[in-house]
Amino acid sequence: MKFIVCVKQVPDTTEVKIDPETNTLIREGVPSILNPFDQFALEEAIKIRQEGDEIIVVSMGPPQAKKALLKCLALGADRAVLLSDRAFAGADTWATSFTLTQCIKKIGDFNIIFCGLQAIDGDTAQVGPEIAAQLGIPQITYVESVEKLEGKKLIAKVQTDDGYKIVETRLPVLITGITPSSFEPTNPPMMSIMKANKKPFSTWDADELGGSKDNYGLNGSLTEVIKVYSPPAREQGVIIDEETAEAAVQKLIDLLSKDKVI
Ligand SMILES: Cc1cc2nc3c(=O)[nH]c(=O)nc-3n(C[C@H](O)[C@H](O)[C@H](O)COP(=O)(O)OP(=O)(O)OC[C@H]3O[C@@H](n4cnc5c(N)ncnc54)[C@H](O)[C@@H]3O)c2cc1C
Repeated sequence: MKFIVCVKQVPDTTEVKIDPETNTLIREGVPSILNPFDQFALEEAIKIRQEGDEIIVVSMGPPQAKKALLKCLALGADRAVLLSDRAFAGADTWATSFTLTQCIKKIGDFNIIFCGLQAIDGDTAQVGPEIAAQLGIPQITYVESVEKLEGKKLIAKVQTDDGYKIVETRLPVLITGITPSSFEPTNPPMMSIMKANKKPFSTWDADELGGSKDNYGLNGSLTEVIKVYSPPAREQGVIIDEETAEAAVQKLIDLLSKDKVI
């Protein structure tokens, strides 16, 4: 089987800052890490790998994203592909998923594509489902674990609002994983980190992926960020802190009457 895992390098912070001029993420001065949801997706692929299976990690990003891919190789992926080209800059989620889809088609003969639930910087959770749509294959989102692989069938445990459901689908399939609270990310040992540098690593640009350059990056983006801003700070609420319940109720009635709510 061939498993492809899409991973993104993200800033090591949940407080992403936006450049108000360009409406893009400010990455300068913030250390980068492998998107934590993607490490879970990769470790899920490693968990179900059997003798002879191949795990390929793919990332679209600047040359520095190589570091995230090397970590994946140290964790156990077999080979890595970095998609890096100025033509990819300014991509929205559709152009990002188009670029990843082109790469997946070029790799070919895949059985399962793994994505994280979402990237901790962009937070849209759109890229995985968009890749499945562009490839025309089924998708299962919110997968907490792959329970079984039986021939051309995959059975997954899927989180729902009030519990779990077990979903079965045929291959090929794209799954997006939701990290369970019990998940403990692996820290690859030094020996694996050193070996990672010797594993196959390719860098592909837009020419390598083929198709019209109009479909990549800003040109291929269907959406445009018009304005980015923080929501106005909420006014502080009123704390009713009276000695007795009767006094508190009276104060509440007074306040609501004053504001003409009652
Ligand atoms: C109009 C517009 C312009 C933008 N311009 C820029 C820009 O100039 N520079 C910039 O950095 N960002 C830009 N962005 C943000 C960029 O589009 C998103 O970061 C990107 O599409 C991924 O979306 P996300 O972060 O919400 O990922 P999600 O959809 O939340 O990610 C879900 C999963 O998809 C996979 N995935 C996501 N991104 C990648 C990736 N790059 N490589 C491999 N796998 C991936 C991972 O498995 C991840 O867990 C722009 C967005 C918009 C809307």
